Amino acid sequence: MNIVPKKSLGQNFLQNKNIINKIVELGQISSDSYVIEIGPGTGNLTEEIIKKKPKKFLAIEKDVSLYRKLKSKYKSNLDLVNQDVLKIDWNNFSNNHSIVFGNLPYNISAKLLINWIKLNNLNLLFKKFILMFQKEVADRIVADVNSNKYGRLSILTNWKMKVNKVMDIEPENFFPKPKVKSSIVYFEPKNSFFSFNNPNNLEKVTNIFFQNKRKMIKKPLNILFQNSSKIINKLELNEKSRPQNLNPQTFFKISKEFENELTSN
Ligand code: SAH
Repeated sequence: MNIVPKKSLGQNFLQNKNIINKIVELGQISSDSYVIEIGPGTGNLTEEIIKKKPKKFLAIEKDVSLYRKLKSKYKSNLDLVNQDVLKIDWNNFSNNHSIVFGNLPYNISAKLLINWIKLNNLNLLFKKFILMFQKEVADRIVADVNSNKYGRLSILTNWKMKVNKVMDIEPENFFPKPKVKSSIVYFEPKNSFFSFNNPNNLEKVTNIFFQNKRKMIKKPLNILFQNSSKIINKLELNEKSRPQNLNPQTFFKISKEFENELTSN
């Protein structure tokens, strides 16, 4: 294909066949699978996914010229839409336990991940996600408590997903070559998880804590609660600890308390 890659759409096409095959294998696609690919681009992954003969295969591509090329290449075995994936309302999808692949622009993947995590029926809509991130972002997603990469992304992911970094990918495997390393991350939605009235509250709480990640937790608690000492006692927090020392469960509990405070005011 004669393509001039668009930097604005984060177009770095994966060239290495071994890596492409490895990514597709992670999906364990069978004849009853529903598959979604985000940003198929020149079709490097698309081609291999089609070979697995899934029951349904939907691909979402924003770039109209790539969309047209793919459309003429794969006529019947691919449902292709020309759309911005960030504008899709996933609530309109059926609970098909879809397998999602996405080698997307770096600035979009994290945003999309958070959107998915906040969906009520995440575990019914999706079976697994195999997504590419900038390595630095992947490391933050999978970070454990007490590490300096641990933060908002790790906590939100931990809330709803089982997650595993599969491999790092060097820039040489793409065309054009990105400036940074990439990683493939594998996610499976959890079937049971802490429940909130509104998941935005968890996001808000973690945002406030990690804006001041070197400061002791008394400060964000004071921002969130009228009586922070009460919360410190109730949840048996050490007020000298820093945000990075609180495990995800503790953030869930703090966010629940924050919700309770919102409804009582
Ligand atoms: N998956 C392919 C292409 C990766 S490049 C491969 O691995 O080779 C990223 C792709 O995402 C490009 O095709 C780009 O046009 C597409 N894209 C960028 N922003 C998008 C958006 N908001 N919605 C849907 N697709 C997008």
